Amino acid sequence: NQLLLHFQPKVDMASGRIIGAEALVRWQHPEKGLLYPGDFIPLAEECGLIVPMGHHIFSLACQQMRSWREQGVMPERLPIAVNLSALSFNEEGLIEQLIRCAEAHALPLDSICLELTETSLMQQIESTTQRLENLRIAGFRLALDDFGTGYSSLSYLKRFPIDQIKIDRSFVQDIITDPQDVAIVETIITLARKLGLEVVAEGVETVEQANLLNSMGCGTAQGYYFARPMPAAQLTLLLTAQK
Ligand code: C2E
Ligand code: MG
Ligand code: MG
Repeated sequence: NQLLLHFQPKVDMASGRIIGAEALVRWQHPEKGLLYPGDFIPLAEECGLIVPMGHHIFSLACQQMRSWREQGVMPERLPIAVNLSALSFNEEGLIEQLIRCAEAHALPLDSICLELTETSLMQQIESTTQRLENLRIAGFRLALDDFGTGYSSLSYLKRFPIDQIKIDRSFVQDIITDPQDVAIVETIITLARKLGLEVVAEGVETVEQANLLNSMGCGTAQGYYFARPMPAAQLTLLLTAQK
Protein backbone atom coordinates (compact mmCIF):
# COMPACT_ATOMS: atom_id res chain seq x y z
CA ASN A 1 0.00 0.00 0.00
CA GLN A 2 2.79 2.45 -0.74
CA LEU A 3 1.45 3.56 -4.11
CA LEU A 4 -0.64 6.70 -4.17
CA LEU A 5 -2.06 9.06 -6.74
CA HIS A 6 -1.51 12.72 -7.36
CA PHE A 7 -3.88 14.60 -9.63
CA GLN A 8 -3.05 17.32 -12.13
CA PRO A 9 -5.90 19.53 -13.39
CA LYS A 10 -6.70 19.90 -17.07
CA VAL A 11 -7.70 23.55 -17.44
CA ASP A 12 -9.91 25.43 -19.88
CA MET A 13 -7.65 28.35 -20.68
CA ALA A 14 -10.38 30.84 -21.57
CA SER A 15 -12.23 30.49 -18.26
CA GLY A 16 -9.48 29.11 -16.06
CA ARG A 17 -11.83 26.36 -14.95
CA ILE A 18 -10.74 22.83 -14.13
CA ILE A 19 -12.42 20.57 -16.66
CA GLY A 20 -10.68 17.32 -15.83
CA ALA A 21 -7.69 15.88 -14.02
CA GLU A 22 -5.06 13.24 -14.66
CA ALA A 23 -4.12 10.66 -12.04
CA LEU A 24 -0.34 10.23 -11.78
CA VAL A 25 1.11 7.46 -9.66
CA ARG A 26 3.71 7.99 -6.94
CA TRP A 27 5.46 5.55 -4.63
CA GLN A 28 5.76 6.65 -1.03
CA HIS A 29 8.85 4.61 -0.21
CA PRO A 30 9.57 4.10 3.51
CA GLU A 31 13.28 4.92 3.12
CA LYS A 32 13.68 6.68 -0.20
CA GLY A 33 10.78 9.09 0.16
CA LEU A 34 8.39 9.99 -2.63
CA LEU A 35 9.35 8.30 -5.91
CA TYR A 36 8.09 9.40 -9.34
CA PRO A 37 6.91 7.12 -12.13
CA GLY A 38 10.16 7.54 -14.08
CA ASP A 39 11.91 5.76 -11.19
CA PHE A 40 9.81 2.62 -11.21
CA ILE A 41 7.33 2.36 -14.11
CA PRO A 42 9.97 1.30 -16.69
CA LEU A 43 11.11 -1.49 -14.37
CA ALA A 44 7.52 -2.53 -13.65
CA GLU A 45 6.94 -2.70 -17.39
CA GLU A 46 10.06 -4.74 -17.95
CA CYS A 47 9.11 -7.37 -15.39
CA GLY A 48 5.39 -7.38 -16.12
CA LEU A 49 4.42 -6.14 -12.68
CA ILE A 50 2.84 -3.14 -14.40
CA VAL A 51 -0.25 -5.24 -15.17
CA PRO A 52 -1.37 -5.94 -11.58
CA MET A 53 -0.02 -2.50 -10.63
CA GLY A 54 -2.21 -0.97 -13.34
CA HIS A 55 -5.29 -2.59 -11.82
CA HIS A 56 -4.34 -1.36 -8.38
CA ILE A 57 -3.85 2.18 -9.74
CA PHE A 58 -7.17 2.06 -11.57
CA SER A 59 -8.88 0.93 -8.40
CA LEU A 60 -7.24 3.76 -6.39
CA ALA A 61 -8.49 6.25 -8.99
CA CYS A 62 -12.01 4.81 -8.79
CA GLN A 63 -11.99 5.01 -4.97
CA GLN A 64 -10.96 8.66 -5.14
CA MET A 65 -13.57 9.51 -7.75
CA ARG A 66 -16.26 7.85 -5.71
CA SER A 67 -15.19 9.82 -2.67
CA TRP A 68 -15.32 13.10 -4.64
CA ARG A 69 -18.78 12.20 -5.88
CA GLU A 70 -19.98 11.36 -2.39
CA GLN A 71 -18.63 14.67 -1.12
CA GLY A 72 -20.47 16.40 -3.95
CA VAL A 73 -17.39 18.26 -5.19
CA MET A 74 -17.12 16.41 -8.47
CA PRO A 75 -19.13 17.95 -11.29
CA GLU A 76 -21.08 15.41 -13.36
CA ARG A 77 -18.98 15.81 -16.46
CA LEU A 78 -15.49 16.10 -15.04
CA PRO A 79 -13.53 13.13 -16.30
CA ILE A 80 -10.53 11.75 -14.46
CA ALA A 81 -7.80 10.33 -16.66
CA VAL A 82 -5.78 7.23 -15.85
CA ASN A 83 -2.64 6.22 -17.76
CA LEU A 84 -2.59 2.72 -19.18
CA SER A 85 0.64 1.03 -20.21
CA ALA A 86 0.95 -1.00 -23.40
CA LEU A 87 1.08 -4.29 -21.48
CA SER A 88 -2.13 -3.45 -19.64
CA PHE A 89 -3.83 -2.36 -22.82
CA ASN A 90 -3.06 -5.68 -24.47
CA GLU A 91 -4.01 -7.77 -21.46
CA GLU A 92 -6.68 -10.43 -21.95
CA GLY A 93 -9.89 -9.48 -20.15
CA LEU A 94 -8.82 -5.89 -19.50
CA ILE A 95 -12.10 -4.28 -20.50
CA GLU A 96 -14.21 -6.56 -18.32
CA GLN A 97 -11.94 -5.89 -15.33
CA LEU A 98 -12.06 -2.12 -15.81
CA ILE A 99 -15.84 -2.15 -16.15
CA ARG A 100 -16.22 -4.33 -13.06
CA CYS A 101 -14.02 -2.01 -11.02
CA ALA A 102 -15.79 1.17 -12.17
CA GLU A 103 -19.20 -0.35 -11.55
CA ALA A 104 -18.18 -1.55 -8.10
CA HIS A 105 -17.57 2.13 -7.31
CA ALA A 106 -20.82 3.20 -8.97
CA LEU A 107 -18.99 5.32 -11.53
CA PRO A 108 -20.38 6.11 -14.97
CA LEU A 109 -17.78 4.97 -17.49
CA ASP A 110 -17.82 8.26 -19.36
CA SER A 111 -16.38 9.93 -16.27
CA ILE A 112 -13.18 7.94 -16.82
CA CYS A 113 -10.64 8.75 -19.51
CA LEU A 114 -7.94 6.25 -20.41
CA GLU A 115 -4.66 7.73 -21.63
CA LEU A 116 -2.70 5.60 -24.05
CA THR A 117 0.55 6.41 -25.82
CA GLU A 118 1.05 6.02 -29.54
CA THR A 119 3.65 3.33 -29.08
CA SER A 120 1.31 1.16 -27.05
CA LEU A 121 -1.23 1.25 -29.89
CA MET A 122 1.15 0.51 -32.72
CA GLN A 123 1.71 -3.16 -32.01
CA GLN A 124 -1.14 -4.92 -33.79
CA ILE A 125 -3.25 -2.35 -35.58
CA GLU A 126 -6.23 -4.60 -36.27
CA SER A 127 -6.69 -5.87 -32.74
CA THR A 128 -5.86 -2.43 -31.34
CA THR A 129 -8.68 -0.83 -33.30
CA GLN A 130 -11.05 -3.50 -32.03
CA ARG A 131 -9.96 -3.06 -28.42
CA LEU A 132 -10.29 0.70 -28.62
CA GLU A 133 -13.74 0.36 -30.13
CA ASN A 134 -14.78 -1.99 -27.32
CA LEU A 135 -13.54 0.45 -24.69
CA ARG A 136 -15.34 3.29 -26.44
CA ILE A 137 -18.58 1.34 -26.82
CA ALA A 138 -18.40 0.46 -23.14
CA GLY A 139 -18.37 4.22 -22.50
CA PHE A 140 -14.77 5.09 -21.56
CA ARG A 141 -13.20 8.21 -23.03
CA LEU A 142 -9.88 7.73 -24.77
CA ALA A 143 -6.89 10.07 -25.00
CA LEU A 144 -3.75 9.73 -27.09
CA ASP A 145 -0.88 10.73 -24.78
CA ASP A 146 2.50 12.23 -25.76
CA PHE A 147 1.22 12.84 -29.29
CA GLY A 148 3.95 13.53 -31.80
CA THR A 149 6.69 11.51 -30.11
CA GLY A 150 5.84 8.06 -31.50
CA TYR A 151 4.97 7.08 -35.02
CA SER A 152 2.34 9.81 -35.31
CA SER A 153 0.72 7.96 -38.15
CA LEU A 154 -2.13 10.01 -39.55
CA SER A 155 -4.01 6.96 -40.74
CA TYR A 156 -4.62 5.76 -37.22
CA LEU A 157 -6.00 9.13 -36.20
CA LYS A 158 -8.72 8.30 -38.67
CA ARG A 159 -9.11 4.66 -37.63
CA PHE A 160 -8.83 4.83 -33.88
CA PRO A 161 -11.95 5.97 -32.03
CA ILE A 162 -10.20 8.45 -29.73
CA ASP A 163 -11.65 11.56 -28.08
CA GLN A 164 -8.59 13.57 -27.20
CA ILE A 165 -5.04 14.22 -28.40
CA LYS A 166 -2.42 15.40 -25.92
CA ILE A 167 0.39 17.42 -27.50
CA ASP A 168 3.63 16.24 -25.97
CA ARG A 169 5.51 18.58 -23.65
CA SER A 170 8.61 18.44 -25.85
CA PHE A 171 6.82 20.57 -28.49
CA VAL A 172 5.37 23.03 -25.98
CA GLN A 173 8.65 23.56 -24.12
CA ASP A 174 10.35 25.82 -26.72
CA ILE A 175 7.27 27.11 -28.47
CA ILE A 176 8.12 30.73 -27.71
CA THR A 177 11.53 30.59 -29.34
CA ASP A 178 11.37 27.81 -31.91
CA PRO A 179 9.33 28.45 -35.08
CA GLN A 180 9.50 24.76 -35.96
CA ASP A 181 7.73 23.85 -32.75
CA VAL A 182 5.15 26.54 -33.53
CA ALA A 183 4.57 24.95 -36.92
CA ILE A 184 4.22 21.46 -35.46
CA VAL A 185 1.90 22.49 -32.65
CA GLU A 186 -0.26 24.60 -34.95
CA THR A 187 -0.58 21.71 -37.35
CA ILE A 188 -1.56 19.25 -34.62
CA ILE A 189 -4.19 21.68 -33.33
CA THR A 190 -5.67 22.20 -36.80
CA LEU A 191 -5.65 18.49 -37.50
CA ALA A 192 -7.35 17.70 -34.20
CA ARG A 193 -10.05 20.32 -34.71
CA LYS A 194 -10.80 19.24 -38.24
CA LEU A 195 -11.07 15.64 -37.10
CA GLY A 196 -13.39 16.72 -34.29
CA LEU A 197 -10.98 15.72 -31.53
CA GLU A 198 -10.32 17.55 -28.29
CA VAL A 199 -6.75 18.77 -27.99
CA VAL A 200 -4.79 19.31 -24.77
CA ALA A 201 -1.34 20.90 -24.53
CA GLU A 202 0.92 19.20 -22.00
CA GLY A 203 3.64 20.82 -19.92
CA VAL A 204 2.56 24.47 -20.12
CA GLU A 205 4.88 26.29 -17.74
CA THR A 206 4.58 30.00 -18.57
CA VAL A 207 1.91 32.59 -19.28
CA GLU A 208 3.52 33.25 -22.68
CA GLN A 209 3.14 29.60 -23.68
CA ALA A 210 -0.45 29.58 -22.45
CA ASN A 211 -1.36 32.74 -24.40
CA LEU A 212 0.27 31.52 -27.58
CA LEU A 213 -1.44 28.13 -27.41
CA ASN A 214 -4.75 29.79 -26.69
CA SER A 215 -4.34 32.09 -29.69
CA MET A 216 -3.56 29.04 -31.82
CA GLY A 217 -6.91 27.55 -30.88
CA CYS A 218 -5.81 25.06 -28.23
CA GLY A 219 -8.31 25.68 -25.48
CA THR A 220 -7.22 23.11 -22.93
CA ALA A 221 -3.90 22.79 -21.15
CA GLN A 222 -2.11 21.00 -18.41
CA GLY A 223 1.09 22.18 -16.83
CA TYR A 224 2.91 23.74 -13.91
CA TYR A 225 1.74 27.21 -14.94
CA PHE A 226 -1.82 26.22 -14.03
CA ALA A 227 -1.22 23.56 -11.40
CA ARG A 228 1.29 20.91 -10.48
CA PRO A 229 0.17 17.36 -9.78
CA MET A 230 -1.21 17.47 -6.22
CA PRO A 231 -2.58 15.20 -3.51
CA ALA A 232 -6.31 14.46 -3.77
CA ALA A 233 -7.11 16.61 -0.73
CA GLN A 234 -5.64 19.66 -2.42
CA LEU A 235 -7.66 19.11 -5.59
CA THR A 236 -10.74 18.74 -3.38
CA LEU A 237 -10.13 22.31 -2.16
CA LEU A 238 -9.77 23.63 -5.71
CA LEU A 239 -12.90 21.82 -6.89
CA THR A 240 -14.85 23.08 -3.89
CA ALA A 241 -13.73 26.65 -4.54
CA GLN A 242 -14.65 26.33 -8.20
CA LYS A 243 -18.10 25.05 -7.32
P1 C2E B 1 2.30 11.62 -18.84
O1 C2E B 1 1.11 10.76 -18.75
O2 C2E B 1 2.57 12.30 -20.12
O3 C2E B 1 2.16 12.68 -17.64
C1 C2E B 1 2.64 13.99 -17.68
C2 C2E B 1 3.93 14.13 -16.92
O4 C2E B 1 4.40 15.48 -17.09
C3 C2E B 1 3.78 13.96 -15.41
O5 C2E B 1 5.02 13.45 -14.94
C4 C2E B 1 3.60 15.40 -14.93
O6 C2E B 1 3.94 15.58 -13.59
C5 C2E B 1 4.55 16.11 -15.84
N1 C2E B 1 4.21 17.52 -16.01
C6 C2E B 1 2.98 18.09 -16.01
N2 C2E B 1 3.04 19.41 -16.24
C7 C2E B 1 4.36 19.70 -16.39
C8 C2E B 1 5.06 20.91 -16.65
O7 C2E B 1 4.49 22.00 -16.79
N3 C2E B 1 6.43 20.82 -16.76
C9 C2E B 1 7.08 19.64 -16.61
N4 C2E B 1 8.42 19.66 -16.71
N5 C2E B 1 6.44 18.48 -16.37
C10 C2E B 1 5.10 18.51 -16.27
P2 C2E B 1 5.09 12.19 -13.95
O8 C2E B 1 3.99 12.25 -12.93
O9 C2E B 1 6.49 12.08 -13.48
O10 C2E B 1 4.73 10.98 -14.92
C11 C2E B 1 5.59 10.63 -15.98
C12 C2E B 1 4.98 9.58 -16.86
O11 C2E B 1 4.82 8.34 -16.15
C13 C2E B 1 3.57 9.92 -17.35
O12 C2E B 1 3.62 10.79 -18.45
C14 C2E B 1 3.03 8.55 -17.69
O13 C2E B 1 3.47 8.15 -18.97
C15 C2E B 1 3.69 7.67 -16.65
N6 C2E B 1 2.72 7.41 -15.58
C16 C2E B 1 2.34 8.21 -14.57
N7 C2E B 1 1.39 7.63 -13.81
C17 C2E B 1 1.16 6.42 -14.37
C18 C2E B 1 0.26 5.35 -14.07
O14 C2E B 1 -0.55 5.40 -13.13
N8 C2E B 1 0.32 4.24 -14.89
C19 C2E B 1 1.17 4.16 -15.96
N9 C2E B 1 1.15 3.05 -16.71
N10 C2E B 1 2.00 5.17 -16.28
C20 C2E B 1 2.00 6.28 -15.50
MG1 MG C 1 -0.78 10.86 -19.33
MG1 MG D 1 2.06 12.91 -21.80
